[in-house]
Amino acid sequence: MGPSCLMILADGARAEMFEALLAQGNLPEISEHVVERGSYRRGTSTFTSTTGPAHIPLLTGCFPGTVGVPGYRWFDREAYRGYGPAAPRSLRSYNGPEAAWFDRDMDVAHPTLYELIPDSLGVFGLMTRGLEKERNLYSREKPFIWCHSHWFHDYERADRWASKALVEASAAKSRFRFVAFPGIDWNCHYIGVDCPEAIESYRLLDGAVGAAAAKLRELGTYDETMIAIVSDHGHRQVDTHFDLAVSFGSRHGIKTAYHSWPAFRPSFDAVVCVSGNGMAHVYLRGEDGSWSTRPSRDVIERRHPGLLSSLLTEDAIDILITRGEGEAALVVESERGMADLSEKGPGGEIAYSLREGGDPFGWDGLAERMTSREALECTVETEYPDALVQIAQLFRTRRTGDIVVSASAGFDLRERFEWPEHFSSHGGIIRDHMLVPVASSVPLRDGPVRTADIATTVLDYLGVPVPPGVDGESRLNRERNAALAAGPAMASPTTE
Ligand SMILES: [Zn+2]
Repeated sequence: MGPSCLMILADGARAEMFEALLAQGNLPEISEHVVERGSYRRGTSTFTSTTGPAHIPLLTGCFPGTVGVPGYRWFDREAYRGYGPAAPRSLRSYNGPEAAWFDRDMDVAHPTLYELIPDSLGVFGLMTRGLEKERNLYSREKPFIWCHSHWFHDYERADRWASKALVEASAAKSRFRFVAFPGIDWNCHYIGVDCPEAIESYRLLDGAVGAAAAKLRELGTYDETMIAIVSDHGHRQVDTHFDLAVSFGSRHGIKTAYHSWPAFRPSFDAVVCVSGNGMAHVYLRGEDGSWSTRPSRDVIERRHPGLLSSLLTEDAIDILITRGEGEAALVVESERGMADLSEKGPGGEIAYSLREGGDPFGWDGLAERMTSREALECTVETEYPDALVQIAQLFRTRRTGDIVVSASAGFDLRERFEWPEHFSSHGGIIRDHMLVPVASSVPLRDGPVRTADIATTVLDYLGVPVPPGVDGESRLNRERNAALAAGPAMASPTTE
Protein backbone atom coordinates (compact mmCIF):
# COMPACT_ATOMS: atom_id res chain seq x y z
CA MET A 1 0.00 0.00 0.00
CA GLY A 2 3.01 2.30 -0.20
CA PRO A 3 4.90 4.07 2.55
CA SER A 4 3.43 4.29 6.02
CA CYS A 5 4.65 5.27 9.46
CA LEU A 6 4.48 3.74 12.90
CA MET A 7 5.32 6.48 15.43
CA ILE A 8 6.01 5.15 18.91
CA LEU A 9 6.03 7.65 21.75
CA ALA A 10 8.18 6.41 24.65
CA ASP A 11 6.83 9.08 27.00
CA GLY A 12 9.58 10.42 29.23
CA ALA A 13 12.39 8.33 27.70
CA ARG A 14 15.77 9.94 28.36
CA ALA A 15 18.31 10.23 25.55
CA GLU A 16 21.25 9.19 27.74
CA MET A 17 19.45 6.15 29.20
CA PHE A 18 18.20 5.08 25.78
CA GLU A 19 21.74 5.37 24.37
CA ALA A 20 23.23 3.40 27.28
CA LEU A 21 20.69 0.60 26.86
CA LEU A 22 21.34 0.50 23.12
CA ALA A 23 25.12 0.35 23.68
CA GLN A 24 24.74 -2.45 26.24
CA GLY A 25 22.67 -4.49 23.78
CA ASN A 26 19.64 -4.17 26.02
CA LEU A 27 17.34 -2.95 23.24
CA PRO A 28 18.05 -5.68 20.64
CA GLU A 29 14.78 -5.34 18.71
CA ILE A 30 15.00 -1.54 18.45
CA SER A 31 18.61 -1.95 17.38
CA GLU A 32 17.82 -4.42 14.63
CA HIS A 33 14.57 -3.06 13.26
CA VAL A 34 15.07 0.67 13.73
CA VAL A 35 18.55 1.99 14.48
CA GLU A 36 20.64 -0.35 12.27
CA ARG A 37 18.33 0.13 9.29
CA GLY A 38 18.09 3.88 9.74
CA SER A 39 19.43 6.38 12.25
CA TYR A 40 19.69 7.25 15.88
CA ARG A 41 19.81 10.95 16.73
CA ARG A 42 19.87 12.88 19.95
CA GLY A 43 16.78 15.05 19.74
CA THR A 44 15.60 18.16 21.55
CA SER A 45 12.19 18.64 23.09
CA THR A 46 10.27 21.87 23.32
CA PHE A 47 9.55 24.39 26.07
CA THR A 48 7.51 23.53 28.07
CA SER A 49 8.94 20.03 28.11
CA THR A 50 5.78 18.49 29.51
CA THR A 51 3.41 15.71 28.48
CA GLY A 52 0.72 17.50 26.51
CA PRO A 53 2.52 20.59 25.18
CA ALA A 54 5.51 18.42 24.27
CA HIS A 55 3.27 16.05 22.27
CA ILE A 56 2.24 18.94 20.01
CA PRO A 57 5.46 19.07 17.93
CA LEU A 58 5.33 15.32 17.30
CA LEU A 59 1.78 15.45 15.96
CA THR A 60 1.70 18.87 14.25
CA GLY A 61 5.29 19.90 13.51
CA CYS A 62 4.55 23.07 15.51
CA PHE A 63 5.87 24.32 18.82
CA PRO A 64 3.41 24.73 21.73
CA GLY A 65 3.63 28.54 21.52
CA THR A 66 2.65 28.44 17.85
CA VAL A 67 -0.62 26.64 18.54
CA GLY A 68 -1.44 28.45 21.81
CA VAL A 69 -0.93 25.71 24.41
CA PRO A 70 2.09 26.93 26.41
CA GLY A 71 1.91 24.50 29.32
CA TYR A 72 0.16 21.74 31.17
CA ARG A 73 -1.47 24.57 33.10
CA TRP A 74 -2.05 28.13 31.94
CA PHE A 75 -4.17 31.23 32.48
CA ASP A 76 -5.80 33.18 29.67
CA ARG A 77 -6.10 36.83 30.77
CA GLU A 78 -8.09 37.70 27.64
CA ALA A 79 -10.70 35.11 28.56
CA TYR A 80 -10.85 36.41 32.14
CA ARG A 81 -13.75 38.79 32.91
CA GLY A 82 -11.64 40.92 35.24
CA TYR A 83 -13.44 39.88 38.45
CA GLY A 84 -14.27 36.66 40.30
CA PRO A 85 -12.22 33.45 40.40
CA ALA A 86 -9.80 32.54 37.64
CA ALA A 87 -11.06 28.95 37.44
CA PRO A 88 -12.67 27.30 35.69
CA ARG A 89 -13.32 29.72 32.80
CA SER A 90 -9.89 31.14 32.10
CA LEU A 91 -7.59 28.72 33.86
CA ARG A 92 -6.57 25.38 32.45
CA SER A 93 -5.03 22.24 33.92
CA TYR A 94 -4.91 19.13 31.77
CA ASN A 95 -4.82 16.99 34.89
CA GLY A 96 -8.21 15.33 34.91
CA PRO A 97 -11.37 16.17 32.96
CA GLU A 98 -9.99 19.38 31.42
CA ALA A 99 -7.79 17.16 29.23
CA ALA A 100 -10.88 17.01 27.02
CA TRP A 101 -10.25 20.69 26.15
CA PHE A 102 -6.77 20.06 24.86
CA ASP A 103 -7.77 19.54 21.21
CA ARG A 104 -9.97 22.65 21.22
CA ASP A 105 -7.28 24.79 22.88
CA MET A 106 -4.93 24.27 19.93
CA ASP A 107 -5.19 26.81 17.11
CA VAL A 108 -7.22 25.24 14.26
CA ALA A 109 -4.97 26.97 11.72
CA HIS A 110 -2.38 24.26 12.39
CA PRO A 111 -3.64 20.80 11.38
CA THR A 112 -2.61 17.64 13.19
CA LEU A 113 -1.13 14.64 11.37
CA TYR A 114 -4.47 12.95 12.03
CA GLU A 115 -6.22 15.70 10.08
CA LEU A 116 -3.66 15.61 7.27
CA ILE A 117 -3.73 11.80 7.01
CA PRO A 118 -7.40 10.80 7.38
CA ASP A 119 -6.78 7.05 7.66
CA SER A 120 -4.57 7.62 10.75
CA LEU A 121 -4.80 5.46 13.82
CA GLY A 122 -3.97 6.49 17.40
CA VAL A 123 -3.48 4.74 20.72
CA PHE A 124 -3.36 6.44 24.16
CA GLY A 125 -2.57 9.92 22.84
CA LEU A 126 -3.55 13.00 24.82
CA MET A 127 -4.11 14.82 21.57
CA THR A 128 -6.71 13.35 19.24
CA ARG A 129 -7.95 16.17 16.99
CA GLY A 130 -8.86 14.74 13.59
CA LEU A 131 -8.64 11.15 14.78
CA GLU A 132 -11.86 9.26 14.04
CA LYS A 133 -13.42 7.72 17.15
CA GLU A 134 -13.24 4.17 15.88
CA ARG A 135 -9.59 4.71 14.89
CA ASN A 136 -8.64 5.80 18.42
CA LEU A 137 -7.92 2.29 19.71
CA TYR A 138 -8.74 1.41 23.33
CA SER A 139 -9.98 4.93 24.03
CA ARG A 140 -12.89 3.47 26.01
CA GLU A 141 -10.56 1.34 28.12
CA LYS A 142 -8.01 4.14 28.61
CA PRO A 143 -9.63 5.90 31.63
CA PHE A 144 -9.94 2.57 33.46
CA ILE A 145 -6.35 1.55 32.69
CA TRP A 146 -5.09 5.00 33.81
CA CYS A 147 -7.10 4.87 37.06
CA HIS A 148 -5.93 1.35 37.78
CA SER A 149 -2.29 2.33 37.22
CA HIS A 150 -2.48 5.31 39.56
CA TRP A 151 -4.46 3.66 42.35
CA PHE A 152 -2.43 0.45 42.41
CA HIS A 153 0.91 1.99 41.39
CA ASP A 154 0.98 -0.50 38.54
CA TYR A 155 2.84 1.40 35.84
CA GLU A 156 3.30 -1.61 33.60
CA ARG A 157 -0.33 -2.34 32.81
CA ALA A 158 -0.81 0.52 30.34
CA ASP A 159 2.34 -0.41 28.42
CA ARG A 160 1.12 -4.01 28.09
CA TRP A 161 -2.06 -2.65 26.48
CA ALA A 162 0.05 -0.35 24.29
CA SER A 163 2.17 -3.34 23.17
CA LYS A 164 -0.94 -5.24 22.16
CA ALA A 165 -2.28 -2.17 20.37
CA LEU A 166 1.03 -1.63 18.57
CA VAL A 167 0.79 -5.05 16.92
CA GLU A 168 -2.85 -4.36 15.98
CA ALA A 169 -1.87 -0.97 14.60
CA SER A 170 0.94 -2.57 12.59
CA ALA A 171 -1.59 -4.83 10.91
CA ALA A 172 -4.10 -2.04 10.20
CA LYS A 173 -4.51 -0.40 6.82
CA SER A 174 -3.31 3.07 7.71
CA ARG A 175 -0.56 5.40 6.58
CA PHE A 176 0.07 6.88 10.04
CA ARG A 177 -0.17 5.10 13.36
CA PHE A 178 0.72 6.69 16.69
CA VAL A 179 1.08 4.60 19.84
CA ALA A 180 1.99 6.11 23.25
CA PHE A 181 3.71 4.11 26.00
CA PRO A 182 3.31 6.02 29.31
CA GLY A 183 5.24 3.56 31.54
CA ILE A 184 8.73 5.11 31.50
CA ASP A 185 7.34 8.53 32.44
CA TRP A 186 5.20 7.19 35.30
CA ASN A 187 7.98 5.03 36.73
CA CYS A 188 10.40 7.96 36.65
CA HIS A 189 7.92 10.35 38.31
CA TYR A 190 6.63 8.09 41.05
CA ILE A 191 9.59 5.80 41.76
CA GLY A 192 12.66 7.60 40.41
CA VAL A 193 14.69 8.37 37.30
CA ASP A 194 16.22 5.27 35.70
CA CYS A 195 14.79 3.05 38.46
CA PRO A 196 14.72 -0.72 37.68
CA GLU A 197 10.99 -0.44 36.93
CA ALA A 198 11.68 2.31 34.36
CA ILE A 199 14.40 0.17 32.74
CA GLU A 200 11.85 -2.64 32.55
CA SER A 201 9.56 -0.23 30.67
CA TYR A 202 12.28 0.36 28.04
CA ARG A 203 12.70 -3.41 27.77
CA LEU A 204 8.96 -3.93 27.43
CA LEU A 205 8.89 -1.35 24.65
CA ASP A 206 11.75 -3.17 22.92
CA GLY A 207 9.78 -6.42 23.00
CA ALA A 208 6.75 -4.62 21.56
CA VAL A 209 8.84 -3.26 18.67
CA GLY A 210 10.04 -6.82 17.96
CA ALA A 211 6.44 -8.10 17.87
CA ALA A 212 5.36 -5.21 15.61
CA ALA A 213 8.28 -5.84 13.24
CA ALA A 214 7.37 -9.52 13.05
CA LYS A 215 3.79 -8.55 12.16
CA LEU A 216 4.98 -6.13 9.46
CA ARG A 217 7.21 -8.83 7.98
CA GLU A 218 4.37 -11.34 7.99
CA LEU A 219 2.25 -8.85 6.04
CA GLY A 220 5.06 -7.88 3.66
CA THR A 221 4.99 -4.20 4.71
CA TYR A 222 8.20 -4.16 6.75
CA ASP A 223 10.35 -2.38 4.16
CA GLU A 224 7.90 0.42 3.42
CA THR A 225 6.99 1.18 7.04
CA MET A 226 8.93 3.92 8.79
CA ILE A 227 9.26 3.00 12.47
CA ALA A 228 10.04 6.10 14.53
CA ILE A 229 10.65 5.87 18.28
CA VAL A 230 10.63 9.23 20.01
CA SER A 231 10.14 10.80 23.39
CA ASP A 232 8.39 14.04 24.29
CA HIS A 233 10.79 15.12 27.08
CA GLY A 234 13.48 13.84 29.42
CA HIS A 235 13.54 13.58 33.23
CA ARG A 236 15.65 14.78 36.12
CA GLN A 237 15.66 13.51 39.69
CA VAL A 238 14.17 15.97 42.20
CA ASP A 239 15.86 16.37 45.58
CA THR A 240 13.96 19.43 46.81
CA HIS A 241 10.40 20.64 46.29
CA PHE A 242 9.92 24.41 46.34
CA ASP A 243 6.30 25.52 46.23
CA LEU A 244 6.50 28.61 44.05
CA ALA A 245 2.76 29.38 44.23
CA VAL A 246 2.69 29.15 48.04
CA SER A 247 5.84 31.30 48.29
CA PHE A 248 4.14 34.12 46.38
CA GLY A 249 1.75 34.48 49.31
CA SER A 250 4.02 33.57 52.21
CA ARG A 251 7.20 35.39 51.16
CA HIS A 252 6.00 38.13 48.87
CA GLY A 253 2.53 38.80 50.29
CA ILE A 254 0.83 38.49 46.91
CA LYS A 255 -2.63 36.94 46.87
CA THR A 256 -2.21 34.08 44.44
CA ALA A 257 -4.52 31.76 42.53
CA TYR A 258 -3.14 28.30 41.72
CA HIS A 259 -4.23 24.69 41.56
CA SER A 260 -6.09 23.12 43.30
CA TRP A 261 -8.65 24.96 45.50
CA PRO A 262 -6.85 28.39 45.51
CA ALA A 263 -7.75 28.51 41.81
CA PHE A 264 -11.25 29.45 43.01
CA ARG A 265 -10.18 32.42 45.19
CA PRO A 266 -12.70 35.23 44.59
CA SER A 267 -9.91 37.73 43.93
CA PHE A 268 -6.18 37.44 43.31
CA ASP A 269 -3.17 39.50 42.25
CA ALA A 270 -1.12 36.68 40.73
CA VAL A 271 -1.75 33.35 39.06
CA VAL A 272 0.88 30.61 39.20
CA CYS A 273 0.60 27.69 36.77
CA VAL A 274 3.21 24.97 37.25
CA SER A 275 3.84 22.76 34.23
CA GLY A 276 5.63 19.40 34.43
CA ASN A 277 6.77 20.68 37.82
CA GLY A 278 10.02 21.97 36.28
CA MET A 279 8.60 25.27 35.01
CA ALA A 280 5.87 27.75 35.85
CA HIS A 281 3.95 30.57 34.23
CA VAL A 282 3.35 33.52 36.58
CA TYR A 283 0.69 36.08 35.64
CA LEU A 284 0.44 39.50 37.29
CA ARG A 285 -1.83 42.53 36.99
CA GLY A 286 -0.81 45.19 34.46
CA GLU A 287 0.39 48.75 34.95
CA ASP A 288 -3.12 50.11 35.62
CA GLY A 289 -3.75 47.37 38.18
CA SER A 290 -6.24 45.55 35.95
CA TRP A 291 -6.04 42.13 34.32
CA SER A 292 -6.67 43.60 30.88
CA THR A 293 -3.12 44.84 30.36
CA ARG A 294 0.04 42.79 30.44
CA PRO A 295 3.02 43.87 32.57
CA SER A 296 6.48 44.07 31.00
CA ARG A 297 9.57 43.49 33.13
CA ASP A 298 9.76 47.23 33.95
CA VAL A 299 6.13 47.28 35.08
CA ILE A 300 6.67 44.20 37.26
CA GLU A 301 9.67 45.99 38.83
CA ARG A 302 7.57 49.08 39.52
CA ARG A 303 4.57 47.24 40.94
CA HIS A 304 6.53 44.58 42.86
CA PRO A 305 9.93 46.10 43.67
CA GLY A 306 12.56 43.43 44.34
CA LEU A 307 10.32 40.51 43.37
CA LEU A 308 12.41 39.40 40.39
CA SER A 309 15.75 39.65 42.17
CA SER A 310 14.31 37.88 45.18
CA LEU A 311 13.06 35.03 42.97
CA LEU A 312 16.52 34.73 41.41
CA THR A 313 18.13 34.22 44.80
CA GLU A 314 16.01 31.08 45.36
CA ASP A 315 18.10 27.95 44.83
CA ALA A 316 15.11 26.32 43.16
CA ILE A 317 14.92 28.98 40.44
CA ASP A 318 17.36 28.95 37.56
CA ILE A 319 16.08 31.11 34.70
CA LEU A 320 13.43 33.88 34.58
CA ILE A 321 11.98 35.22 31.35
CA THR A 322 9.89 38.40 31.14
CA ARG A 323 8.71 40.65 28.32
CA GLY A 324 10.85 43.64 27.42
CA GLU A 325 9.71 46.90 25.83
CA GLY A 326 8.68 46.58 22.19
CA GLU A 327 7.39 43.88 19.90
CA ALA A 328 8.60 40.32 20.67
CA ALA A 329 11.29 41.66 23.04
CA LEU A 330 12.14 39.28 25.87
CA VAL A 331 14.49 39.52 28.82
CA VAL A 332 16.24 36.36 30.02
CA GLU A 333 17.98 36.45 33.39
CA SER A 334 19.66 34.21 35.89
CA GLU A 335 22.15 34.80 38.69
CA ARG A 336 24.83 34.65 35.98
CA GLY A 337 23.56 37.63 34.01
CA MET A 338 20.89 39.13 31.80
CA ALA A 339 20.25 39.16 28.04
CA ASP A 340 17.77 40.49 25.49
CA LEU A 341 16.19 37.96 23.15
CA SER A 342 13.80 38.35 20.24
CA GLU A 343 12.74 36.56 17.08
CA LYS A 344 11.81 38.19 13.79
CA GLY A 345 8.46 36.44 13.41
CA PRO A 346 7.92 32.68 13.80
CA GLY A 347 10.94 30.78 12.49
CA GLY A 348 12.72 34.06 11.75
CA GLU A 349 16.12 35.30 12.78
CA ILE A 350 17.00 35.12 16.47
CA ALA A 351 18.62 38.20 18.03
CA TYR A 352 20.42 37.70 21.34
CA SER A 353 22.55 40.23 23.19
CA LEU A 354 23.96 40.36 26.70
CA ARG A 355 22.88 43.27 28.89
CA GLU A 356 25.01 43.23 31.99
CA GLY A 357 27.08 40.69 33.87
CA GLY A 358 27.66 37.36 32.18
CA ASP A 359 25.52 35.22 29.93
CA PRO A 360 22.38 33.99 31.76
CA PHE A 361 22.97 30.49 30.35
CA GLY A 362 26.70 30.54 31.01
CA TRP A 363 27.46 30.46 27.27
CA ASP A 364 30.50 32.09 25.80
CA GLY A 365 30.71 34.03 22.57
CA LEU A 366 27.35 33.23 20.98
CA ALA A 367 26.59 35.15 17.78
CA GLU A 368 24.15 38.05 18.23
CA ARG A 369 22.11 37.02 15.17
CA MET A 370 21.34 33.47 14.15
CA THR A 371 18.90 31.50 12.06
CA SER A 372 16.64 29.15 13.98
CA ARG A 373 18.74 26.17 12.85
CA GLU A 374 22.02 27.85 13.84
CA ALA A 375 20.60 28.65 17.26
CA LEU A 376 19.85 24.92 17.70
CA GLU A 377 23.23 23.73 16.45
CA CYS A 378 25.31 26.00 18.66
CA THR A 379 23.38 25.22 21.87
CA VAL A 380 22.46 21.54 21.53
CA GLU A 381 25.57 20.28 23.32
CA THR A 382 25.27 22.82 26.17
CA GLU A 383 23.32 22.71 29.44
CA TYR A 384 20.43 24.52 27.67
CA PRO A 385 19.80 22.81 24.33
CA ASP A 386 17.83 24.99 21.87
CA ALA A 387 16.92 27.39 24.70
CA LEU A 388 16.76 30.56 22.57
CA VAL A 389 14.30 29.33 19.96
CA GLN A 390 12.30 27.43 22.56
CA ILE A 391 11.91 30.48 24.78
CA ALA A 392 11.06 32.73 21.83
CA GLN A 393 8.37 30.37 20.50
CA LEU A 394 6.70 30.05 23.90
CA PHE A 395 5.95 33.78 23.92
CA ARG A 396 4.13 33.63 20.58
CA THR A 397 0.93 32.90 22.48
CA ARG A 398 -0.98 35.34 24.69
CA ARG A 399 -1.49 32.52 27.20
CA THR A 400 2.17 32.53 28.25
CA GLY A 401 2.92 34.04 31.66
CA ASP A 402 4.39 37.46 32.46
CA ILE A 403 7.23 35.71 34.30
CA VAL A 404 8.27 32.31 33.01
CA VAL A 405 10.26 30.35 35.57
CA SER A 406 12.52 27.41 34.76
CA ALA A 407 13.61 25.42 37.82
CA SER A 408 17.19 24.54 38.71
CA ALA A 409 18.36 20.96 38.25
CA GLY A 410 17.37 18.87 41.27
CA PHE A 411 14.42 21.11 42.19
CA ASP A 412 10.82 21.37 41.20
CA LEU A 413 8.16 23.98 41.85
CA ARG A 414 5.38 22.10 43.66
CA GLU A 415 4.93 20.55 47.03
CA ARG A 416 1.46 20.99 48.45
CA PHE A 417 -1.61 19.51 46.77
CA GLU A 418 0.44 16.97 44.94
CA TRP A 419 -0.44 13.30 44.98
CA PRO A 420 1.38 11.06 44.46
CA GLU A 421 4.69 12.81 45.17
CA HIS A 422 6.98 13.28 42.17
CA PHE A 423 10.55 12.06 42.61
CA SER A 424 11.50 13.26 39.19
CA SER A 425 10.38 16.13 36.99
CA HIS A 426 10.57 17.77 33.60
CA GLY A 427 9.03 20.84 31.99
CA GLY A 428 12.08 23.10 32.22
CA ILE A 429 14.68 24.29 29.74
CA ILE A 430 17.61 22.33 31.22
CA ARG A 431 19.47 19.61 29.35
CA ASP A 432 18.04 16.62 31.22
CA HIS A 433 14.50 17.82 30.50
CA MET A 434 15.21 18.76 26.90
CA LEU A 435 17.20 15.88 25.41
CA VAL A 436 15.20 13.02 23.92
CA PRO A 437 16.07 9.91 21.90
CA VAL A 438 15.05 9.82 18.23
CA ALA A 439 15.36 6.46 16.49
CA SER A 440 14.10 6.08 12.93
CA SER A 441 14.16 3.06 10.64
CA VAL A 442 14.31 5.57 7.77
CA PRO A 443 17.73 7.28 7.60
CA LEU A 444 17.81 10.89 8.80
CA ARG A 445 20.20 13.65 7.85
CA ASP A 446 23.20 14.37 10.07
CA GLY A 447 22.91 16.89 12.87
CA PRO A 448 20.51 17.57 15.72
CA VAL A 449 16.78 17.09 15.33
CA ARG A 450 13.90 18.81 17.09
CA THR A 451 10.76 16.88 17.98
CA ALA A 452 8.90 19.27 15.64
CA ASP A 453 11.11 18.01 12.79
CA ILE A 454 9.78 14.48 13.29
CA ALA A 455 6.22 15.31 12.18
CA THR A 456 7.53 17.17 9.13
CA THR A 457 9.87 14.26 8.29
CA VAL A 458 6.95 11.82 8.51
CA LEU A 459 4.87 13.96 6.12
CA ASP A 460 7.82 14.15 3.72
CA TYR A 461 8.33 10.37 3.87
CA LEU A 462 4.63 9.75 3.19
CA GLY A 463 4.52 12.29 0.37
CA VAL A 464 1.85 14.37 2.16
CA PRO A 465 2.21 18.15 1.53
CA VAL A 466 3.58 19.97 4.57
CA PRO A 467 1.09 22.66 5.70
CA PRO A 468 2.27 26.28 5.92
CA GLY A 469 3.36 27.66 9.28
CA VAL A 470 4.97 24.53 10.72
CA ASP A 471 8.11 24.95 12.83
CA GLY A 472 9.70 21.62 11.92
CA GLU A 473 11.76 20.81 8.85
CA SER A 474 12.15 17.44 7.18
CA ARG A 475 15.34 15.65 8.22
CA LEU A 476 14.84 12.81 5.75
CA ASN A 477 18.14 11.66 4.28
CA ARG A 478 17.12 11.55 0.61
CA GLU A 479 20.38 10.14 -0.73
CA ARG A 480 20.48 7.20 1.65
CA ASN A 481 16.77 6.54 1.24
CA ALA A 482 17.14 6.50 -2.55
CA ALA A 483 20.07 4.10 -2.23
CA LEU A 484 18.08 1.84 0.10
CA ALA A 485 15.16 1.82 -2.32
CA ALA A 486 17.52 0.82 -5.14
CA GLY A 487 18.52 -2.33 -3.26
CA PRO A 488 20.82 -3.51 -0.49
CA ALA A 489 23.91 -3.56 -2.74
CA MET A 490 23.57 0.18 -3.31
CA ALA A 491 23.15 1.13 0.33
CA SER A 492 26.48 1.29 2.06
CA PRO A 493 26.47 1.13 5.84
CA THR A 494 27.23 4.40 7.56
CA THR A 495 28.98 5.15 10.77
CA GLU A 496 26.29 7.48 12.13
ZN1 LIG B 1 5.47 13.07 28.72
